[in-house]
Amino acid sequence: MPSSRPTQSFPMIPRGLRTRFAPSPTGFLHLGHVASAIYVWGLARKSGAEVVLRMEDHDQGRVRKDYETSILDDLAWLGFKADAGVASSDKASDYRQSDHWSRYENALQNLGDRVYRCQCSRKEILERTGKNSEELWYDGFCRVHNQGPNIRLILDSKPQTFVDGLLGEQIQTASEQCGDLLLRDRDGFWTYNFAVTVDDIEEDISLIIRGQDILAATGRQLELREQLGAKEQPLYIHHPLIWADETKKLSKRDRSTSIGQWRDQGFSAADIVGKAAFQVGLIPSERPIHATEVEDLFHV
Ligand code: GLU
Repeated sequence: MPSSRPTQSFPMIPRGLRTRFAPSPTGFLHLGHVASAIYVWGLARKSGAEVVLRMEDHDQGRVRKDYETSILDDLAWLGFKADAGVASSDKASDYRQSDHWSRYENALQNLGDRVYRCQCSRKEILERTGKNSEELWYDGFCRVHNQGPNIRLILDSKPQTFVDGLLGEQIQTASEQCGDLLLRDRDGFWTYNFAVTVDDIEEDISLIIRGQDILAATGRQLELREQLGAKEQPLYIHHPLIWADETKKLSKRDRSTSIGQWRDQGFSAADIVGKAAFQVGLIPSERPIHATEVEDLFHV
């Protein structure tokens, strides 16, 4: 089997951190998730970090139990085994977001009077702000009314700076990107940004490894951490994505091939890990890689 030298180096990762793999059970696992798992387990094993498996089922309108079961089965089949968190055999878990509702309520109380209620729909916001960017920007209209089903947080108009382990220094001003941050939506579900930030703090996550599609969320999560009283900034690594074609990232909504479909076509777990490693640019040509070997793809 041809071997190749690791292409990516992460000397900034100290030993003994705690990281997480955090799938949302709103679809099946696909190659993009496998690329994330390679980074998470590879860097964790190489640097002696602990891996927590968190099930991000905050969006109860979209999650399905069969997606969760299949994600857990696929991860086990691929050979990615977490040190803590949700496991295939789990009925209950401390690491499932739908079990964290009181944790989120408590965090909300700690945010005090920067939090307010809002009744604006997406359509109303778009009509009022006239902004046609990819991301919805909230103008603070309901700050004075403080009524409605949504819950929002007033952000400071200051830039957040962090050094991404792959991308270098990043500066983001969340108040300009999204305006007052949505914490709970009109259906009563906690939003991704709020749930993930509270959990990362509560679960002592010190190394956050995720795709570059979430890069823009990091500034607002850092600000939320500050407002929630977190003392330390975690280390962030936003890894490249696998692209379905030249313009679109691979995603479950694109009906990308699920791991189960690859398996049904006769691919082995090592074939799939190797395919994802190649497509994300970690190896120069495709070859089978066992989940236990992914640490060899990185220098730490
Ligand atoms: N649950 C998110 C996803 O599946 C990951 C969130 C994160 O890593 O911060 O894309």
